[in-house]
Amino acid sequence: MTATRLRPFGTTIFAEFSALAARTGAINLGQGFPDTDGPPEIIDAAIAALRSGRANQYAPAAGVPELRAAIAAHQHRRYGLDVDPDDGVQVTFGATEAIAATMLGLLEPGDEVLALEPYYDSYAATTAMAGASLRLVALRPPEFVLDADELARAAAGERVRMLLLNSPHNPTGRVLDAGELAAIARVCVEHDLVAVTDEVYEHLVYDGEHIPLATLPGMAQRTLTISSAGKSFSFTGWKIGWCSGPPELVAAVAAAKQFLSFAGGTPLQRAVAAGLDDAERHVAPLRATLHSARDRLCAGLRAAGYEVCVPQGGYFANADLAPLGIEDADAWCRALPGRAGVVAIPASAFYAGADTARSLVRFAFCKRPEVIDEAVERLAAIAR
Ligand code: PMP
Ligand code: GLN
Repeated sequence: MTATRLRPFGTTIFAEFSALAARTGAINLGQGFPDTDGPPEIIDAAIAALRSGRANQYAPAAGVPELRAAIAAHQHRRYGLDVDPDDGVQVTFGATEAIAATMLGLLEPGDEVLALEPYYDSYAATTAMAGASLRLVALRPPEFVLDADELARAAAGERVRMLLLNSPHNPTGRVLDAGELAAIARVCVEHDLVAVTDEVYEHLVYDGEHIPLATLPGMAQRTLTISSAGKSFSFTGWKIGWCSGPPELVAAVAAAKQFLSFAGGTPLQRAVAAGLDDAERHVAPLRATLHSARDRLCAGLRAAGYEVCVPQGGYFANADLAPLGIEDADAWCRALPGRAGVVAIPASAFYAGADTARSLVRFAFCKRPEVIDEAVERLAAIAR
């Protein structure tokens, strides 16, 4: 019964592999979610909002004013970006809804969206929902560096209307550098593309620096920036996300979003506003914890004989199984809970072509040290 345009996407790899973890009791290094709660003060702010008698009804369609103000202030304080809290910000049900509403609100059927491959799964599905499609530019392992010539060639496509960027990048953990971003800005300006940037891991950078695309010359007026409280504050289940940018782009997103969910999560929006006002204090310890979790997982996997591509940011590290003589990471991942009691995700889930990057596996390291150690020990036992 599912509509033709959605049929190719099936059930998300995250739902499938988290269900596998639940069924088998395996350690879940698949879907990216922390196994510890975010800051208690933000939870307290949510409880206070729930009990305030003023936050349990619909929020305004754009989001509660405190959160819109906090988002605009954050963009200014951290990146020097000027965003209007009234008509330059749209609060959404996670970054996921911001991405979907962006595609539905901005694309015409037949349009193409320039994106990096591998890519977060919802990009292809939501683009298809809008009757459009992705045009992909490869980030190749083990360094996952952008090839500016390849990008320029792809951007010349006649139907390309939008560039969709994700940095820090899921699944590779690449944090694009100033040179790569300059090349991206150049093609956007040259071909008059709308840029959409998914920056949900903006605060989780361990090497290098996160530079929002909107800060590059000529980009603020054509860039929609998406982020979310899920990753910055470890509340992935709250689903408070947002986008910000020029009013005409935000209005297009709002036009679609109002009919997807209108507005909700009012008490959580209030709590995230309090969190964002003090974002740097909250994210610094999280970043340090994830930095050492990254090092722990990568060192452990390496010592166990896996070839690891060390990520610069985000939640995930990829390992190439080819040096272990394994070419089919999908089959390996499906057998892994039974063999080792661990769940990991085949990176092929993030590629359009089933044959690309067949031997790569993505591991989430947003877990407590003892969980990482136990998983590494189990993975070491099967690599010997
Ligand atoms: N974009 C990327 C790159 C992601 O990894 C995720 C998953 N957190 C999302 C968007 C979705 O974010 P949210 O949970 O806020 O909907
Ligand atoms: N962003 C998370 C990941 O990449 C998953 C979010 C989801 O389940 N949709 O693992």
